[in-house]
This record gives sequence, structure tokens and C-alpha cells, in this order.
Amino acid sequence: MTAPPIASGRVLPTLNEDGSRNWIRPRPSPGRWWRRRQVVAYLLMVVFIALPHITINGHPAFLMSFPKREFHLLGWTFLPTDTLLFMLFLFSTIIGIFLLTALFGRAWCGWACPQTVYLEFLYRPIERLLEGGYVGSRNLDRERKFFTPRRLLKYAIYAVISLVLAHTFLAYFVGVDELAVWMRRSPWEHPTSFMVMALTAIAIWYNFTYFREQTCLIACPYGRWQSVLLDRQSLIVAYDYVRGEPRGKPATSPDAAAKQGDCVDCKACVTTCPTGIDIRNGLQMECVHCTQCMDACDAIMDKVGKPRGLIRYSSQEALAGKPKRLVRPRTVLYPLAFTLAFGTMLTLLFTKESADVTVLRGLGAPFSEEEDGRIANQVRIKVANRGSDEARYRIELDGATGGRVIAPENPLVVAGGEVRETSIFVLLPREAFTNGAREVTITVSDGARFTTAVPWRLQGPSGSAAPATSPAPDTPEGTP
Ligand code: SF4
Ligand code: SF4
Repeated sequence: MTAPPIASGRVLPTLNEDGSRNWIRPRPSPGRWWRRRQVVAYLLMVVFIALPHITINGHPAFLMSFPKREFHLLGWTFLPTDTLLFMLFLFSTIIGIFLLTALFGRAWCGWACPQTVYLEFLYRPIERLLEGGYVGSRNLDRERKFFTPRRLLKYAIYAVISLVLAHTFLAYFVGVDELAVWMRRSPWEHPTSFMVMALTAIAIWYNFTYFREQTCLIACPYGRWQSVLLDRQSLIVAYDYVRGEPRGKPATSPDAAAKQGDCVDCKACVTTCPTGIDIRNGLQMECVHCTQCMDACDAIMDKVGKPRGLIRYSSQEALAGKPKRLVRPRTVLYPLAFTLAFGTMLTLLFTKESADVTVLRGLGAPFSEEEDGRIANQVRIKVANRGSDEARYRIELDGATGGRVIAPENPLVVAGGEVRETSIFVLLPREAFTNGAREVTITVSDGARFTTAVPWRLQGPSGSAAPATSPAPDTPEGTP
């Protein structure tokens, strides 16, 4: 049997040449950028945990409920009828990301992405605490000790944290009240929701215990987009090759020192990199712009008495000595597209009625014939109350005089932010239809701020003469 092919050179920072995992245990670099990121990270964690518990106008600040088909965001409620609003919101978000990337590079990845925030500021610190720092972790890797008591304790703590994160994550989709019900019930009573919870927790545990930086390197599409989202003026974490090269150990003679760049080739920027790359090789897809190499290099520059900033926030053009240009095609077109989409969304949002009414035909046959010869139409009326208070919607029908209208629930009571559906049944004599149709108007009103009139065509047998239509609206039977 032939031996499996061996890659010539490393193809990924996380893979050895024989295909085995190269575990990356970055050396911490607690400089000024680290401290700033730490503050941002812990604030984001607090926001993530607290947000599902905060209510605005009686609804969660953020809830994307698939079972109820509702999306609550900072006091706004998006219903299934808000497809256009939702599309504009998504479009604005995507354009906003494009714009931020064009201006600030991968600032999201380094400062706010949950993958970076939780890995660097929660999971890795616990690992270093239990395993004797990053050196202890590397030693355990080298000796291939993956199940020592301390590592088992680490996995157990990770499991608890992952369970908390999974519950919080799911609260964004089912709400904290429903989640509390899930947690109190036995798994046997709700196997589906239990499985959803268990699989989410396992996915989070697996990601932060095993998969780690590979999520950024091989799974996240955003890193791959950067080659088209960035331009040469975008802000990036960059090594100043003009100042740093030729690199080498500090020279002993003044002549040699004059010919040498500022990089002393200490590799501190490499050993601190959480994705295992060497920033001195230029802009790379694997770089998540976490700034750790900036802190590591600044500490070295302090030691060797050179100015800080050999690795710094810069741009490809600035490093090449070209001037900054804030006005570029993408910094003009993206804001324009964003303003258009977001402005349209806000206009629609603030001019929207307090309720949405959808009228639908009954299920099954378009009409039926009663024993007494009258023609029956079922009409389904769906009312979405966009307000936060309960409302009572009265349903009236104009143009069905001479017939009978049955409405089991009128007015229809709809709680704030809820959607309810009711049916009315219209019975008309056969002669009421002209060419198989009878035009009526369905009016829905809450008696205060909201009234809407929906023209509707009732279906019937064709070939009959039409009677005169009364101008007065008909109050359906069944009204309390
Ligand atoms: S940390 Fe700075 S000096 Fe050291 S190798 Fe990296 S760029 Fe060169
Ligand atoms: S190269 Fe620097 S900024 Fe990029 S991921 Fe590595 S440490 Fe972070």
C-alpha cells in the first residue's frame, strides 16, 4: 500500500504537514490594545446575557420568534406582512457591514465577533489558569496529554459555560418565559426542544474546546469576503515593512545597526497570534485584526529602545507612503445605498398603520350550496395588532344585503403585538351573483385610530341576475 501524500509546507496554521492538528496556544500580550478589547468584550458579554431580559413596550428588546413568526427589535415589531421592511433592514445591515469593512477593515472580527470575544476573554483565560499558562498547555499538547485531571476539569467548566451560552442564545428565539418553561419541564415532556438545547450547547462546547480558530480560518465566510470588501486605503493591522526590514537580531556595531531595520526577529508577534500566522508576511486572510501582535511588538520596541508602532493600524497605501483618501468609490456608494435603504425603512416604519388586515378565501371549495339553495362563502380575516395594547376590531360587510352574515367572533380581540384570525360566513341567494361573482367591501375598525376597507369578491354559480345593492353596511350575526 502506498503511503498517503504529505503536503509540501504547511497549508493551514492549524495543520501540521502530516495532517495532524497544530494546536495554537497564543502567548498573552497584555498591552494597551488588549486592555481596551477586554473592556469591550466584557461589556458585550453583559449585553448578550441581559438583552433577552429587557423589555420595551411590553416586548423583549430582541426576539426573533419563529413559532409566532414575529421579530421584536428595540420596541418595533416586525410581522410576516413586513417582508419589505425586513428585507430593507437586512439590506441596510449588509451594506453597513460593507461600509464598516471598507473603512475599518476587520474591526468586527477582532473586537466584537462572539468567536473572538468568548474564545480570547473567557475560554482561553480559564485554560491558562488551569493548565499553567500557555506554556503548560503547549507542554500538555507536546506530550499528547488530552485527558489529565486538569484538562477534564477544563472540559467540565467549558460544558457549564456552553450550557449557559446555549440557553441565552435560544432565549433570543423563544423568549425568556418560554425558555423558563423548557428548563422546568422534564426532557421526556418536550424531547424536541430539549434536543435543540442539547445540540446548541454541544455545538458551542465543540467550537470553543476543539474547533476554535478554525472557525475563522475555514468556516467563516466573512474572512473570505475581505479580499473584495477591503481596498488599499482600508484600515488594517499591518507590519511596517519599510521600517522593519531588513530584520535581524540587534546589531552590535553602529554600521551594522544603520543598515538594519527595526524588526529584531524575536517572533513575539507570531507566538501571540491566535490564528498562528506571521503578520510580517503581509495582509492575510487568516488575520482577524485582533491587535495582539501590535501589543507584543510594542513591548519589544520598548525593550530595545525603538519607537512603538512597527506593527500598527495602517493601510496598504499608507505603508507604501501614499496619502490617505477618505473619498473613494466604495466610501461614497455604500453610504448612499445605506441611506436609501435605511431611510426608506424608517419612513415605512413610522408611517405604518397600527394594524394589518389580510383577507383570505376559506379553505377548500370556493363556495358551497346550502340545502335551501343559498350560496355560502367562507372568508378568513387575519388581523395583526402592531400596537402594544389589546384592541377590539369590529368587522362589517357592505354589499351583502339580502343575505346573512355569520361572524363567530365580532369584535375580534387581539392582544398587543399579536396576530389573530377569524372566519366569517356569507350566505346569499343564488340570484345575488353576476357571472359567478358578487363584489362586497369588508371593513375592519378598532373604533379609534384604525379603519380599513378591503374590496372583496364573493364566489358563486355563474349565469344569475344581480339584485340591487344596499348602501348600508351589514352587521354580521354573532355580534355580542
Ligand atoms: S514582534 Fe516586532 S520585532 Fe518581534 S518579530 Fe514581530 S515585528 Fe519583529
Ligand atoms: S496577525 Fe496580529 S492582528 Fe492578525 S490575527 Fe495575528 S495577532 Fe491578530
